[in-house]
Amino acid sequence: MASNKKYVYFFSKGKSDGNAKMKSILGGKGANLAEMCSIGVPVPPGFTISTEVCDYYYKHGKKYPPELQKQIDTNIANLEKTMDAKLGDSKNPLLVSVRSGAAVSMPGMMDTVLNLGLNDEAVSGLIKKTGNERFAWDAYRRFINMFGDVVMGVGHEYFEEELTKIKKKYKARLDSELTAAQLKEVVQSYKTVYKKYVKEPFPTDAKKQLMAAINAVFGSWNIPRAVTYRKINKITGLLGTAVNVQAMVFGNMGNTSGTGVAFTRNPSTGEKKFFGEFLINAQGEDVVAGIRTPEPIADLKKEMPVIYKQLDAIRDKLEKHYADMQDVEFTIQEGVLYMLQTRTGKRTGLAAVRIAYEMVKEKMITPVQALMRIEGEQLNQLLFPIFDPAAEKKAKKIAKGLPAGPGAASGHVVFTADDAESWKKKGKKVILVRHETSPEDVAGMHAAEGILTSTGGMTSHAAVVARGWGKCCVAGCSALHISYSKKQIIVGDIVIKEGDYISLSGTTGEVMLGDVKSTTSPVIAGVVENNPVARKNEIYKMFIQIMKWADQYRTLGVRTNADTPQDSMAARRLGAEGIGLTRTEHMFFEGDRIWAVREFILAQDVDARKEALKKLLPYQRKDFEGIFKEMDGFPVTIRLLDPPLHEFLPNDAPGQQEMAKRLGISPAKVKDLVTKLHELNPMLGHRGCRLSITYPELCVMQTTAIVEAACNMANKGIKVLPEIMIPLIGTTNEFEYLEDIIRKTANDIIGRSKSKVNYKVGTMIEIPRAALTADKIAKRAEFFSFGTNDLTQMTFGYSRDDAGVFLPEYIEKKILPDDPFQTIDQKGVGQLVKTAVSLGRKSNTKLKCGICGEHGGDPESVKFCHKVGLNYVSCSPFRVPIARLSAAQAVIESKMKLKK
Ligand code: PEP
Ligand code: MG
Repeated sequence: MASNKKYVYFFSKGKSDGNAKMKSILGGKGANLAEMCSIGVPVPPGFTISTEVCDYYYKHGKKYPPELQKQIDTNIANLEKTMDAKLGDSKNPLLVSVRSGAAVSMPGMMDTVLNLGLNDEAVSGLIKKTGNERFAWDAYRRFINMFGDVVMGVGHEYFEEELTKIKKKYKARLDSELTAAQLKEVVQSYKTVYKKYVKEPFPTDAKKQLMAAINAVFGSWNIPRAVTYRKINKITGLLGTAVNVQAMVFGNMGNTSGTGVAFTRNPSTGEKKFFGEFLINAQGEDVVAGIRTPEPIADLKKEMPVIYKQLDAIRDKLEKHYADMQDVEFTIQEGVLYMLQTRTGKRTGLAAVRIAYEMVKEKMITPVQALMRIEGEQLNQLLFPIFDPAAEKKAKKIAKGLPAGPGAASGHVVFTADDAESWKKKGKKVILVRHETSPEDVAGMHAAEGILTSTGGMTSHAAVVARGWGKCCVAGCSALHISYSKKQIIVGDIVIKEGDYISLSGTTGEVMLGDVKSTTSPVIAGVVENNPVARKNEIYKMFIQIMKWADQYRTLGVRTNADTPQDSMAARRLGAEGIGLTRTEHMFFEGDRIWAVREFILAQDVDARKEALKKLLPYQRKDFEGIFKEMDGFPVTIRLLDPPLHEFLPNDAPGQQEMAKRLGISPAKVKDLVTKLHELNPMLGHRGCRLSITYPELCVMQTTAIVEAACNMANKGIKVLPEIMIPLIGTTNEFEYLEDIIRKTANDIIGRSKSKVNYKVGTMIEIPRAALTADKIAKRAEFFSFGTNDLTQMTFGYSRDDAGVFLPEYIEKKILPDDPFQTIDQKGVGQLVKTAVSLGRKSNTKLKCGICGEHGGDPESVKFCHKVGLNYVSCSPFRVPIARLSAAQAVIESKMKLKK
């Protein structure tokens, strides 16, 4: 039964049914069109059919709400009245555009139909109205093509073939050289194409055209390329797309008309400079599709000074109104400016940081808003490598395009999106080279290190999509002659074949031959390498300020996973407040130590084992001293040996022979040992605390190395806070058995050395049983560190080493929302973390809890850790800034929720 529910929202000068806050039901485009109308920005009038209709449509077997048609009819009548024109009219026809627009922008993902309302009568009306016969026929042929292609699925190439034939017939090189009569001929042949493929004549009823176009937009919500885009960008929870029906304005009515797209600030660098491009005498699609290369917006100042001034004022007005960088589309029809869209502009990581930072300085936003505007991964882009200047100088530069996406990229040349994906799967880095990209290419573009196109501008599909991902992209590199069939690029006398290496600079737009060496960013040079020149760099300064703001808000500690003094130093400089995990086994492989480790494994009795361990002790102690020194005053969690012993033995014959020679035993003995230590399921085998329980002397040696290092450093005036961590505990008895050994060994050493060293003994929680019995374990453990790599493995029962085979398909088929080894599975693994924290703290109120699995550097997981009350997260050194930012965002988000 029909209800009174409102599904259609009208917008026109000064009055709108909707506003910018209604994005979820009007879509971003619709909500902002309404808002622009309300604040006095010139916008062609129209109406928006809400996303609730799309939701209804898919929930009701592709049927519309019964009250919809009447609401559409009323709004058409309203639009006709406002425009003083009629759909399909032979004297004064109203033409409209029909566009999609979801709450989250998806560039190029869904379809658009322009010039709707044209038929044989309306075209004569358009001729009368404009006095421009050529223009009217051109609009009509474009409409048949678009309607046929987008709405009815007739391949664009069939229309293109006809056009080419007619152009040939009249010896016209460009479309623009065709006369009105010739375009009329194009219209006739397009109608024939339409009829041939659709099996019925081109619809003459304008209202029927409109309903079919609306249908196509709703239908496009679920076409594969839209679904892929949403999947890659993790866009979920939307009702669907809205449909915007808007009076047409024409940028192709001659030299006083034009169209363009612009950003209120530079979306690559964030610089406060109007940035964009335009084309005189063209329709909007011509700019985006990259068919003609547009002119920079600065030139509009010369060509149309009055319009430029108006546009610049609108730019200022919109930026102030939205308090954020805007991405706008505009059309100039015979000297009159109209805005067709405004939305928050996509930007690179660098631009996100710069804009947020500068808008705080300009007092447009607060530091809190600035923090919420920067995504963890965007901040990460500031830490990206850039080409080594010397290598870049020397590299053979073969062409220059537009620097459309950030960073530096090198890889093998491939020419199709499918190849990009399959080469990537084989572990190869690729650069995807195309004339231009289209939404069908998104998966391949995502797989590539960088994207290179020969046509299109800074706002072409390739540029917009790459920038959104922070991917390196060089667009519009017209010197390249790309042949898909020969799989080669010709530039001058150079031929580049599929598989050859090239490098792209997202900063200069340069294309270079070979694999050009890259170096760290100014942030890394300034922060980690203490480079005084880099510290003067603006990017460095912005990074420092953003991190300062983040630290003011976050309550969650951020530590690092580091195994060497060098990594510890880098992490400290990036803001780590201690070490959450030192994996001692990594130290075993350095230099000659591995031979002492193998001697230990080979030993047949305790004494022989102790002898071997004695050799290892000084190495370990020295490493720990270095780490303690770097972490002066911050806690250092050191984990006892974790991996199974066979990981330290050579598997191949030459390795085994060398081992036999070095240790003075027979190769057969080595082989025998390797066979004996072989495990069918090593991840669940003799590893973690199980090693120290079977070889307690190992635990004694490692504790000795840790505590002696701590005492030595303490005696040198360094503040040491060692935390000895037992891995892979499943039962209380395991913990208690080892804790006794650790405490006895440590107390003896501290007593002897008379240094004041306080240490803690705790455990990793990475086995579900440990999480479920955390109250018992916490009676003796002073801290828990969640090893969510193993905890995920054991909770799901997915092998960490083998899950790569099926996980991608699980995600594709939506069995899982994300890779649980990357983003914590809050419902299952997270639940175990939550349970363990609350059980543990019940029996030990002082229990410190942290996380040291890979999740410690994942933004969503960090926020989860804050929510469940962990004391800190620990992640790899270069993820520390992301963790600091995410931890601040977690506090701000929870405060915002409380306010609501
Ligand atoms: C873990 O399991 O989460 C962990 C940090 O330990 P590892 O990755 O070394 O097994
Ligand atoms: Mg583990």
